[in-house]
Amino acid sequence: MAGSDKSIWIIANWKSNKTIAETLDWVSSVGSKLPKREDLKVVVCPTFSALSEVKKAITVGNFPIMVGSQDLSPFEAGAYTGEESASLLKELVELSIIGHSERRKNFSETDEMISKKVKRANEAGITPLVCVQDEETPVPEECKMIAYEPIWAISTGLTNTPGVGRADTPEDANKLAIRFKQKYGKELEVIYGGSVTATNVKGFIIQSDIDGVLVGNASLDAEEFIKILKACKE
Ligand code: PEP
Repeated sequence: MAGSDKSIWIIANWKSNKTIAETLDWVSSVGSKLPKREDLKVVVCPTFSALSEVKKAITVGNFPIMVGSQDLSPFEAGAYTGEESASLLKELVELSIIGHSERRKNFSETDEMISKKVKRANEAGITPLVCVQDEETPVPEECKMIAYEPIWAISTGLTNTPGVGRADTPEDANKLAIRFKQKYGKELEVIYGGSVTATNVKGFIIQSDIDGVLVGNASLDAEEFIKILKACKE
C-alpha cells in the first residue's frame, strides 16, 4: 500500500465463535492498539448474539471499528421467526456479509435468496458484501462490493509458517478482481478472502485491484489481528 492512496478494507468474520466476554476482550485489545488511519477501514462481524455488546463497546471506547453482520434476512421485518431483518439490524451494523460459501452449502442459500438479501440490505442502508466463490458466481444487481473467496482456500489452517496451508496467490486473486471489475464495472470493490494471515496479507493489499481482505480464523485472535493491521501499514 506504500505510495498508494487507495483505502483498504480489513473485515473480520468470526463465524459462530466467541462468548460475549471473549468478544469484549477482543474489542478492547484491538480497539486500543488500532492504528488510526483513514486509509484502513476495519470491520468486525461477530455473532448476532454479540452484535449489540460489540457495538456498545466500540462506541464507548470510540474505536475506529465498524460493525457488520454475517448474514441478514431476505424478508422485511415481520412474521419471520428466527430471522434478522435488515431494517432492524441497521441499528447495529453498517455492512453485512451475504452468500458466504458456508451458508450456500449448509443452509442451501441460492443466488435468488442472495439477490433478495442484497436488495433488503440496500433498502436499509447496509453495505452488502457478497461472497463469490469463483468467476461463475453471479454478482447481484446493486451490489458494489464482493469478496472473492475460493472454497478451497477457506480456513486451510494456514499459519505464519510460509508454505503451510493454501491461500490463493495474490497475483491470481488480482486477475480475478480485474475480470470482475471488467464485467460488473470498475466501481465494484473486490475483497480477497481465504486463509489470510499477518504473513501473507501485504501481498494481497498491494495488488492493483484488490480493495481489502476478509479474514476468518486469523481474526479470532486479537494479537494476530493486530499483526495483520500492522502488516498493512508497513
Ligand atoms: C471466511 O470464511 O470468510 C474466511 C476468510 O475464512 P479464513 O480466513 O479462515 O480462511
